[in-house]
Amino acid sequence: MSILIVDDSIISRTFIADLLNEVGYADLILCDSVEEAYQEIGFNEPDKTETDLDLILLDVNLPDKSGIDACRELSGHEVFCDVPIIIISGVDYLEGMDAAFSAGATDYITKPPSHTELLVRVRSALRLKTEMNRRKAREEDLLVLNERLAELNRELERLTITDTLTSLANRRYFNEFLNREWLRELRERKPFSVLMIDIDHFKNFNDHYGHLEGDICLQKVAWALQGALCRAGDMLARYGGEEFVAVLPNTDVHGAAELAAAFHARVRELALPHAESPVSPLVTISIGIASVVPNQSLSPSQVVAMADGALYRAKQSGRNQSVIADLPAGDKQTPG
Ligand code: GH3
Ligand code: MG
Ligand code: MG
Repeated sequence: MSILIVDDSIISRTFIADLLNEVGYADLILCDSVEEAYQEIGFNEPDKTETDLDLILLDVNLPDKSGIDACRELSGHEVFCDVPIIIISGVDYLEGMDAAFSAGATDYITKPPSHTELLVRVRSALRLKTEMNRRKAREEDLLVLNERLAELNRELERLTITDTLTSLANRRYFNEFLNREWLRELRERKPFSVLMIDIDHFKNFNDHYGHLEGDICLQKVAWALQGALCRAGDMLARYGGEEFVAVLPNTDVHGAAELAAAFHARVRELALPHAESPVSPLVTISIGIASVVPNQSLSPSQVVAMADGALYRAKQSGRNQSVIADLPAGDKQTPG
């Protein structure tokens, strides 16, 4: 318990200090002016962020500044505003009390205080300070907890939209993204492409190399595809199993075909052996491309179905290739 006593009368100061000492308050700072007090407590130190002061006893009549003014300054200070202040004055009239309280004082006693009165008021001010400290600590704990909770929520939110094996977006996020971007391109009348990507003969891969190697292959292919995306607005997700899907807003059939070629190249560069593939000694992919300019007679799921149909044709045509979906009548675009 650290208590600051500011009083220019040595008799009054010593009287208060002796009394507080007697009842066990040992950490007392005695000052005879506001300036000395400010010096002692570091009132004007710009880097000061906290104080261990628990109470201030402040005489009204001080040589350099009125105790009421000092009280106002202390209670308006970021660091000292929570320290209770008891104003001590020889003037026993209502105006004095009013001035003290409106300057931020916690309590007010008149000189000379009786032993009992002084102790009662000091104890009650210190109890108030302890309670305030406890509340502040609780608020700080709550702030930390809230921040942690917000962090966990963000993490949870991220996990609900992420595929655990590949760390790509999952099917759920794909659906959200697809619908959102579709509506945007519908408004802006911009082209829109969807690519369905599927690893060729992956069942054979698993059967030959084992499921664990299969998982590693899936991760490598996922990251290779992700590495080929170069526009911030593009999105790649794991659609399920060994199938991936890319959504390319504001991208026409030429851009989509270019990206599909980049996907093939990236997977080829991985050079993952696939001893049981009838298509190639290395892991390959097939891609179905659908590019449309959104309009009211089409839905995003129809575009996905178109890409899926094109993927089926790529498989039928020998795999390790891309096929562009035919556009519905009236929506013709010419591939480059
Ligand atoms: P296609 O060229 O026609 O696509 O033939 P495929 O063998 O790749 O296709 P199919 O649909 O017959 O088999 C897909 C295989 O992918 C079967 C399944 O065991 C495997 N698979 C799906 N998900 C995972 C996974 O998370 N990890 C592993 N290791 N394998 C998976
Ligand atoms: Mg496959
Ligand atoms: Mg498949």
